[in-house]
This record gives sequence, C-alpha cells and structure tokens, in this order.
Amino acid sequence: MEMTERAPELRRMEIEVIKAAFSRVDDVDFDNIPFGKIFSDHMFVVDFLENEWMQPTIMPYGNLEMSPAISALHYGQAIFEGMKAYKGADGRVRIFRPFDNIKRMNKSAERMCMAQIPESLFMDGLTQMLSMDSEWVPSQQGCSLYIRPVMFATTAEIKVKTADQFKFVILTCPVGPYYPHPVKVVIEEHYSRAAEGGVGSVKAAGNYGAALYPAKLAQEKGFDQLLWTDAKDHKYIEESGTMNVIFVLGNKLVTPSLEKNTILSGITRDSVLTLAKELDIEVEERKILVEEIIDGCKTGELKEAFGAGTAATIAPIDLISYEGIDFYLPSVDANSISSVLLKMLTDIRVGKSADTYDWMHLVG
Ligand SMILES: *Cc1c(COP(=O)(O)O)cnc(C)c1O
Repeated sequence: MEMTERAPELRRMEIEVIKAAFSRVDDVDFDNIPFGKIFSDHMFVVDFLENEWMQPTIMPYGNLEMSPAISALHYGQAIFEGMKAYKGADGRVRIFRPFDNIKRMNKSAERMCMAQIPESLFMDGLTQMLSMDSEWVPSQQGCSLYIRPVMFATTAEIKVKTADQFKFVILTCPVGPYYPHPVKVVIEEHYSRAAEGGVGSVKAAGNYGAALYPAKLAQEKGFDQLLWTDAKDHKYIEESGTMNVIFVLGNKLVTPSLEKNTILSGITRDSVLTLAKELDIEVEERKILVEEIIDGCKTGELKEAFGAGTAATIAPIDLISYEGIDFYLPSVDANSISSVLLKMLTDIRVGKSADTYDWMHLVG
C-alpha cells in the first residue's frame, strides 16, 4: 500500500513570514552589547486556541496587543526558557542542546497546566527565524545569541482557573558576558526560593519575581547573588539566582542533587558534569550542608565554587558570606577546573572541538 497522505494531526503548518522592512543589525555595537536589551529583527509568535495551535508566524519584533484581563497577568500562568546559539569560525550557526530546552519547557507547561508545545513547531519556528536573523548571531569571543522562548496564558477572564488559550513567542537577543567579574554570594538564611512540592524545578515566571526582594537586600549589602538554601531549615545549599551551583571540594566536583524537585535541572549543569567525567574528575550529586561548605572555606578543602547556567555560562564565585562572615576563595586562573570546563564547553559550542555528545544543532 502506498502512503500518500500524512495523518492530519502530524501535518506541519507552513510558517507565515512577515519580513522586517529593514534590518536594525547595523546599529548594534557588537563589542558592547547590554544583556537582554537589544532584540533581533524578528520574533516567532503562535497562539493556542480551541485546543490547537494556530497559524505560526515570524514577524518583525514589536509590541503585542492583548487584553488587560489575560490570566497570565492575574494568576501567573507563564513559563519561559533560555538557550543560546553560537557562530563558529566557519560562520555557521549552532544552537546548544535545544531539544533539552523543549523537553523542559513542556515539563514546565505540564506543571503549570499549559498547552504542550510540539517539538516540530518549536524547532521549525526557531531555526527558520535564526536563518533569517543569522547576522544577529555574534562571533566575538564570549558572545552569543540568547534565545528566549516564553509562553503565557491569554484567556481573558477574571477567574482563577486553568486557561485554555496561550501565546508562545520566541525572542532573541545578541549578548555578551553576564557577569563581567567573579561573583560574590551570600548564603540566604531567612527567605526561600522553592519548597518541596512547589514549582522550583520548573521555569515558571513567578519564581523570579518572588526572588527579587531577597536578592535586592543582598545587593544592597554588596553581594551579586544569593546562595539559596532549603526552605525548611536553611541548612542545605540549593542554587543561586538563575544558576546551579557547583563546588570543587578536595578533588571532587560536588553539586546539590535534583531529587527534591526544588532546584532547576540546568542543561549547563548537566553539560559540566558530563565534561568533568571526561576529565576523570569524580562527580557527586547529593545534599550539601551549608556547614560543609563553610568548613571547606576554613580548611581550604573548598578549592572552587561556580555557578552554571545558560545566561552566565560558568561564573566563578570569589566570595561566600555566611552569618555575617566573608570567606574568600582562591583566585581563578587558566588551570582552575572552572576555566578548563568553560574552555571545553566553549570549544564544542563554536565548533572547535568535536561534538561528541551531539549537543549542537546546526542551523541551515
Ligand atoms: C535557567 C535556570 C538555571 C540554569 O539552567 P540552564 O539550563 O543551565 O540554563 C538554573 N537555575 C534556575 C533557577 C534557572 O532558572
């Protein structure tokens, strides 16, 4: 029997393209890019209405029109992702582990009672838009194109209930380094980011709004970020800002485990742990007592600490503060484990090293 037609539910809808009248790319100073403020020429927009995804569109970046009653604004059904595309020496654009971001976004969508996004819709929209905006992908060292998928509930109804209408948008912006210097963190002893049973393990927008106040208090005291601890006793280390946290204790790489679902399962974290095994460094994912880290600071057993996340990549921590006492970490050089791991990761991303783990998705 001949297969002539695809089942209708598998049909891919052609993406409508409305091209920007002119490109703004020549106005951008790629050597001084402020993080997250300059958006590429186009965005990808698609609505979920009446139980299905409507016509997807790539259109010029700009404002969206919507009702002030949309439930995302009132009841917080909003989730996002963060990923990056790189331009290698060969001039080709590569996206880092996009399928892991899609999976995580759909996990967030499930927890927040939102529509699942088909992988093909996400990838077709993203890759087609990146081919149009490839000039926006920086090739400077340490720079990349930050990709921000976001979905929010657009049902216009003042009632706490599961929305049935959603808008999925992908924005992109060229970015440089997130932290221009090593990070100073303070261990949080009072406020909490996430409790067991909550939404700490998904990228729900509300998590970030709720973290601003404690982070602001820390910043007023001169710290860059908080090191969150468990919501129950503030005894165990969790993560930092929008980064997972990894320690070099003795000759091991140690990081909080994900099993309590209070920490986001970072793709950078996973990549770093994978690469560390390649260097024959022993990796431990487990509960980490604050006390253990502080003791490590005192004895020198704590050799390095760093954050790992898409925006910040690998961000060395040079100061940990606890109960009013500042502990300084040894300074980082090219031989530090964090530097070696960052170089390995960067080389894979720009196509200088073999992509052994099939992490890079080539565009075009
Ligand atoms: C996004 C995020 C991370 C890092 O995840 P990546 O996939 O590495 O970008 C870590 N913690 C939180 C809270 C986050 O939102």
